Amino acid sequence: MKTKQCLVIGLGRFGTAVATTLYEMGHEVVAVDREEDNVERVVNLVTHAAVLDATEERAMRAIGVADFDVVIVAIGTDVQANILATMNAKSLGATYVVTKAVDEMGRRVLERIGADLVIRPEHDMGVRLARQIANPNIVDTLDLGGDYAIVEIEASARLRGSLRDLNLTGRFGVQVIALGRGGRIEVTPRAEDVIAPHDKLVVIGTAHSLDELRRFLGN
Ligand code: ADP
Repeated sequence: MKTKQCLVIGLGRFGTAVATTLYEMGHEVVAVDREEDNVERVVNLVTHAAVLDATEERAMRAIGVADFDVVIVAIGTDVQANILATMNAKSLGATYVVTKAVDEMGRRVLERIGADLVIRPEHDMGVRLARQIANPNIVDTLDLGGDYAIVEIEASARLRGSLRDLNLTGRFGVQVIALGRGGRIEVTPRAEDVIAPHDKLVVIGTAHSLDELRRFLGN
């Protein structure tokens, strides 16, 4: 795994969780907040922590915002500061800026000013939980960003035959990357593998193509 250089702006609950988890996973994390108390709380939990007001363009340039692989703007309640911080990061040349919106309008504004990924943590978690409850066959979902996900789907009686005959790539635009059967997992399944009801298919695709497959399976 390549070590990523990450800048986390805003050390509330969300930003702190992102910063400390990335650091625990071995990445380089610079964490900043305009409040000294918040910075002090994470000093030993990240690579470097500093007091910085992200609405100030000069401060953002000085910290080298363009040199990070990913910049996470985790300012929530102060919408104006969030928008300015995101704008500063993008206009100073940050390649990939993830930002947190509190509502749909915020999401639209942040996308318009160039945020590469806008998340709405509470909304997104709510949708995910609802999907898990509504689709008990999906054991877990791994969102890959850019609309792609890996999900586990249980085969139904509608899915009979070999992977070649089923042609899920041609029909739904998804790819089966592993098969689970009787508690065992087979990675890189072969075209001649025959699917039986209750087999677990680990499938990669866009949210739309995975929904189409689920609909077809009657899940
Ligand atoms: P959460 O819901 O994740 O706790 P908050 O919106 O409450 O998120 O916290 C956001 C954090 O961002 C706070 O710690 C706040 O001090 C910080 N913050 C707000 N504005 C700025 C700014 N201009 N520059 C840097 N940090 C900021």
